[in-house]
Amino acid sequence: MEECLFCSIVNKKVPANIVYEDEQVIAFRDINPQAPVHLLIMPKKHIPTIVDLTSEDKDLIGEIYLVAQKLASQESIAQCGFRIVANCNADAGQAVFHIHFHLLGGRKLGWPPG
Ligand code: AMP
Ligand code: ZN
Repeated sequence: MEECLFCSIVNKKVPANIVYEDEQVIAFRDINPQAPVHLLIMPKKHIPTIVDLTSEDKDLIGEIYLVAQKLASQESIAQCGFRIVANCNADAGQAVFHIHFHLLGGRKLGWPPG
């Protein structure tokens, strides 16, 4: 089976601007940024959508939020504010089926989102 795009980035077969990596989690800059800071944070493990998460993934998702907190500080948006977004399936416009969390900031973000 062909590897998904984000698995290829995890496996360093496709280049990315990686800003964080540990055993379980990787984060890199979005190739088409929607804000001055736009990072994608994800598990290295291939999980297609939020719907596919199981209770085994509880700690992993917690880790992702702790990485997000660290990166928000590193990118100097922790105090002014940021948003974490995870799109799931068609109506949300999920384009890559390997779960990922968008960390967006560096400008005023509108609400409700489009
Ligand atoms: P989503 O619509 O939530 O599935 O978001 C997929 C995101 O991945 C989009 O914001 C894309 O700009 C981003 N993206 C797609 N290909 C790459 C890539 N090779 N490197 C970094 N970001 C990418
Ligand atoms: Zn994958």
